Amino acid sequence: MKKIVFPGSFDPITKGHVDLVQRALPLFDELILAIGVNSQKKTLFDLETRLGWLKQVFIDEPKVKVDTFEKLTASYCNRIGAKYLLRGLRNASDFDYEKTISQLNFIVGDELETLFFISRPAYSHISSTIVREIINGGGDASPFLPENIVLNKENN
Ligand code: ADP
Repeated sequence: MKKIVFPGSFDPITKGHVDLVQRALPLFDELILAIGVNSQKKTLFDLETRLGWLKQVFIDEPKVKVDTFEKLTASYCNRIGAKYLLRGLRNASDFDYEKTISQLNFIVGDELETLFFISRPAYSHISSTIVREIINGGGDASPFLPENIVLNKENN
């Protein structure tokens, strides 16, 4: 079974994340959306809410699984027998950051490979950070979010 892990905070999941999943899915038997849990890192949306959205968005896609992990992404991948990581590249700063992380993961993750997809132009301006700023500023973030998730004040 060929598995790929898409690790992230998904705070919140955006159309950019969904596009990556859809593009990677034909290449794998299972794609695991894995939320890295770090008690020190403050998120806008709580873990249950983020997990619920991931499940909701891919409810009709049996190859997509949703999970959480603590500590190293590489250790999690080794534990579940996944040999590939999925990440996206929107711009040069994504590249600089992701390059180093992928090189480290290759070493600590026992040749764990990272598969990169270049963001589609329609999504390259979307980031969870920008979405959080819009929400915090009282704006409408729905153009950037998957259609089947609904934000409301109780989520955060
Ligand atoms: P992290 O907290 O690890 O940065 P994110 O949830 O912000 O997690 O992002 C996870 C991955 O999704 C990253 O590789 C990021 O580059 C990618 N990504 C996020 N938004 C987009 C987008 N609009 N297009 C392509 N890739 C994206």
